[in-house]
Amino acid sequence: MKHHDVTIVGGGCVGLSTAKHLSEQTDLDIAVLEKEHHLAEHQSGRNSGVLHPGFNYPPGSKKAQFATEGTRRMKQYCATHGVPCEELGVLVVAKTDREEAYLDVLASRAEANGVEYELLDSQAEIREHEPYAVGQAAFYAPEAASVDSQQYTYALAREVQWNGVTLYTGHAVERIRKQPSGYHLTTSNSDIETTYLVNAAGLHADTLAHQVGVGHGYQVVPFRGEYYEVTPDRTKLCQTMIYPVPDPDLPFLGVHYTRRTDGKVIVGPNAVLAFGREAYQNTDVNLAELKEILTYEGFRRLLQSKTMLSVAWSELNKSYRKTAFTKAAQRLVPDIMEDDLHKSYAGIRAQLVSKDGKLVKDPLAIETDDAVHVLNAVSPGLTSSLPFGEHVATSVIEMENDSSSHL
Ligand SMILES: Cc1cc2nc3c(=O)[nH]c(=O)nc-3n(C[C@H](O)[C@H](O)[C@H](O)COP(=O)(O)OP(=O)(O)OC[C@H]3O[C@@H](n4cnc5c(N)ncnc54)[C@H](O)[C@@H]3O)c2cc1C
Repeated sequence: MKHHDVTIVGGGCVGLSTAKHLSEQTDLDIAVLEKEHHLAEHQSGRNSGVLHPGFNYPPGSKKAQFATEGTRRMKQYCATHGVPCEELGVLVVAKTDREEAYLDVLASRAEANGVEYELLDSQAEIREHEPYAVGQAAFYAPEAASVDSQQYTYALAREVQWNGVTLYTGHAVERIRKQPSGYHLTTSNSDIETTYLVNAAGLHADTLAHQVGVGHGYQVVPFRGEYYEVTPDRTKLCQTMIYPVPDPDLPFLGVHYTRRTDGKVIVGPNAVLAFGREAYQNTDVNLAELKEILTYEGFRRLLQSKTMLSVAWSELNKSYRKTAFTKAAQRLVPDIMEDDLHKSYAGIRAQLVSKDGKLVKDPLAIETDDAVHVLNAVSPGLTSSLPFGEHVATSVIEMENDSSSHL
């Protein structure tokens, strides 16, 4: 049976970034186990691909720190590794007085987090950035960028393999057993033993953590985000990135416009409960996983909030009725028409919900003596992946140093 010093479960951007930092800073024998035969099949390849500088996150939070640092580091990384990345800037458009007032909150957060910004207070100024966007004021963040997240994930994978990390694809970890020293991993392929474990399994991270008695106060609730693509003859409607003003109570940004690095303009995502952790179509149902969600007390508590119920209803509507989705898109760009939009891909967010019914908003990695379980790597998890992976790698290095000092 193969043995590695560190085994990372999950070959998404967070797992691979952890492998990158560990392989750069140590001589440990490292493996990454990925259940799919290709990389970026889940969150790391099914997202908006936007680098979010930290203007929307509370100063002092891990999210703010990781997003701000992550945006800068990732641009550098993409430039060095030939990953498509364009610094287009993002325009957050306010439609009401209440939303306009919230732009000041974004400005003070940007100020505190060291993010460049500009406040625009007229439609004329908005038009200078985005000729088809309509609003009464806007917040402009020039550092936001569009990135090809699939190519980024593959670049990380190439780099870690070059550094000597073993990447096993097609290895789904089915069971993790704690041993007197380290862990035994039963996979869909060969079994593996490891001294240290990093669980970066995204949508399945909670299930694996629960097997070794970690994270019982939390469960992943999958929220699907669906995208439409703007027809090529209408992509002039969005030159860069156009966002609605975020709702401070929700961890998801509303339907927005993103110009991707391949020139396509995508609109979305909505945020609808997925009837399974990998239920990418709105007709997909995994009965066992759906039951697990519906019977989870944290989920039932979450739904006790009237705001959540009304958001859930409106998001469901956008998923099943294109007219409702178009209406949300028209709020920012009134000229967009139903016929301009074609159904595109969907991604599923691994949103962690605590037993008391709260959506966990900050990144969360639970450490034990010999493992790190990345339970919450929600958006902007792509933006944050370099500092977040480094943070996890540092925890493993400290564990190794502690155990060596006890010998
Ligand atoms: C719709 C959507 C839009 C988003 N937009 C943005 C954005 O614009 N900007 C941004 O910064 N972030 C965005 N995000 C968030 C970002 O994509 C995620 O935070 C990030 O990709 C998380 O990476 P990860 O490595 O933790 O998870 P994943 O990419 O899901 O990787 C986990 C990996 O683990 C593997 N795995 C799972 N179980 C097992 C097992 N048992 N054995 C072996 N392997 C296993 C999976 O196959 C997967 O490859 C978005 C996310 C979604 C869903």
